[in-house]
Amino acid sequence: MIYNFSAGPSVFPKAVLMQAQQDLLDWQGCGQSVLEMSHRGKFFPTIAEQLESDLRSLLAIPDNYKVLFLQGGASAQFSLIPQNILRGKTKACYVKTGAWSEKAVLDARSYCDVLVSASSENTAYTTIPEESTWALDEQAAYLHYTTNETIHGVEFSTIPDAKGLPLVADMSSNILSRTIDVSQFGLIYAGTQKNMGPAGVTVVIVRDDLLGYASKTTPPVFDYQAQAKNHSMLNTPATYNWYLVGLILKWLKDLGGVAAIEKMNIAKSAKLYQAIDQSSLYSNPVAIAHRSRMNVPFILADATLDQEFLNSAEANGLFELKGHRSVGGMRASIYNAMPEAGVQALIDFMIEFERTH
Ligand SMILES: *Cc1c(COP(=O)(O)O)cnc(C)c1O
Repeated sequence: MIYNFSAGPSVFPKAVLMQAQQDLLDWQGCGQSVLEMSHRGKFFPTIAEQLESDLRSLLAIPDNYKVLFLQGGASAQFSLIPQNILRGKTKACYVKTGAWSEKAVLDARSYCDVLVSASSENTAYTTIPEESTWALDEQAAYLHYTTNETIHGVEFSTIPDAKGLPLVADMSSNILSRTIDVSQFGLIYAGTQKNMGPAGVTVVIVRDDLLGYASKTTPPVFDYQAQAKNHSMLNTPATYNWYLVGLILKWLKDLGGVAAIEKMNIAKSAKLYQAIDQSSLYSNPVAIAHRSRMNVPFILADATLDQEFLNSAEANGLFELKGHRSVGGMRASIYNAMPEAGVQALIDFMIEFERTH
């Protein structure tokens, strides 16, 4: 048995892979593989409609929001958000809580004045600044933050008060892992390769009143309104990837939806943090209130053991535990599709490794 703790692309539910295997040559008896289908043909529109309606129902997305399935990853959105929703304004507020929000700030600077409303850089991104200290500017076009910092393992447990600004959230690594009130947001975006499928699709959920402001130089395929009008098919979409995301959504629905998986995510992460906190070899630097349920970084008290830890983890079927190169140490990504048995196997291994070292 192999468990894959990769931060992304990441583990798929086995049942979904088997369904994809079964459908590969012939989707539901139609005689075509999804890989071969025209996006405007007889069969694919059914897959596309189901995909959107399942995402709408899983996240309870209100009717005044459009759902887009784009390409370019969350990284493209770092530039596309200011290009689309500045609405004639010149400023945007950003909260920096880790490597990904840092990148979002960097890219936005090409398009507008960025006001860094708060930053936890001075704590090496191990905490989230008190909301009461955030500097918001009512002239700003929006407030951007990253709900879960995939590299630093820092997660917001509540939705911040944007004081009337449209709230924009990068949810790449925790979308569908916990219930959220979409109506609190102006725009939500997420690459699919962490928690909802393969690489190659970027979900954008955007409130209607923010549409129609793309700058003249924005490529039409990256103009939210143009894509919304064309059901994200202004050009050829990543058809097979849409289908795979659809299978993940169906799997999640069958499991009981977001509230049900959230319970499992709480249990899985609590177990792993407890094991880390109880050991004298492993530690996690993040403030307890802001620890991520999805990405659990930890360091070994003796870094000279790192390589042996990784080698011996692999020998025990536990893969991709190396921490991001910018922070070092280890990181276990335990997304929706990671079974509790995988987390338990990791804990058992960690205890045994500590005992023998
Ligand atoms: C992975 C990730 C990204 C970047 O995604 P790409 O698809 O590689 O562009 C951005 N933000 C967060 C929070 C991520 O986890």
